Amino acid sequence: MENPSGRDKVRIYSIETSSAEEVSKIKKTDQEWRKLLTPEQYRITRLKGTEAPFQISCRIPANEEKGVYVCACCGTALFRHKSKFESGSGWPSFWEPISELNVSHKPDDNMGMVRTEVLCARCDAHLGHVFGDGPPPTGKRYCINAASIIVKELSDKAEYSKATFAAGCFWGVEAAFRKLLGKGVISTRVGYIGGHAGNPVYKEVCSGSTGHAEAVELVYNPYKISYEELLDIFWEIHDATAKGSKQVDTASQYRSVIFFHTPQQEKIARAKKRELQDSGTQKKKIVTQIVETQRFYPAEDYHQRYYEKRGIDSCGCSCVP
Ligand SMILES: [Zn+2]
Repeated sequence: MENPSGRDKVRIYSIETSSAEEVSKIKKTDQEWRKLLTPEQYRITRLKGTEAPFQISCRIPANEEKGVYVCACCGTALFRHKSKFESGSGWPSFWEPISELNVSHKPDDNMGMVRTEVLCARCDAHLGHVFGDGPPPTGKRYCINAASIIVKELSDKAEYSKATFAAGCFWGVEAAFRKLLGKGVISTRVGYIGGHAGNPVYKEVCSGSTGHAEAVELVYNPYKISYEELLDIFWEIHDATAKGSKQVDTASQYRSVIFFHTPQQEKIARAKKRELQDSGTQKKKIVTQIVETQRFYPAEDYHQRYYEKRGIDSCGCSCVP
């Protein structure tokens, strides 16, 4: 959605950190934009111009897997090359943006028809329009001026995503996800999240005074393992239903929580939770909370890869639901 004018902060999905971050909006005077941009870029992005079709050939990344298109004005990542398709219109066309956060939409009734304008969410550059006649899976066609975007190649690291789960004692949860190292999971670490105390230590978290949950943060390659697959494992390894056990008590450090990093992760998590509840395999209500990720405090070193260091499969205590 369009950002209300006058708002100075905006949430943008960063492909470098794989999470949504609050950043300042970029505002410049006309004169400043003129200095930064070519006359054609200025005319299109700042004056809402349209370039002639088939005139400017949009550069293609050398490595198509890693190509992204960023805003010509402010560098915000807007589209992946993988979502580009040949529409025949003469303008670069995409079926989805990198994140709904990175573009904003505005009704546009110029030219005697009602269209939806697409803008860069960070600097309000005019990018083009979005139409409802695109290919699956979204059915959308983002029709973008080539002058509004610049092609860039991502580093490997920038292709990775993060996921954060709390599902009981973090030793066992980390061990379960470490079985996927080399199969899409890149790294894991255990820590504390979701509470109010800064820099918590294990003892405080166990006492329940910090509000933090024990959690595992994963870095994964979404092209090797999907968020859906991670969620399947998340619900497999613990009982997330309300049985009155202390493990899933909503305030306990052992509560069941999905800390989503992007609106897409939130959407998938909510849909999967519903699906699991409706499948009939769960006798009780699933009490997993789905909340936006917060600051993650890595746990003390001796908790990291706890089972692995001790050569055990389970700590044998009652901490694992
Ligand atoms: Zn921009």
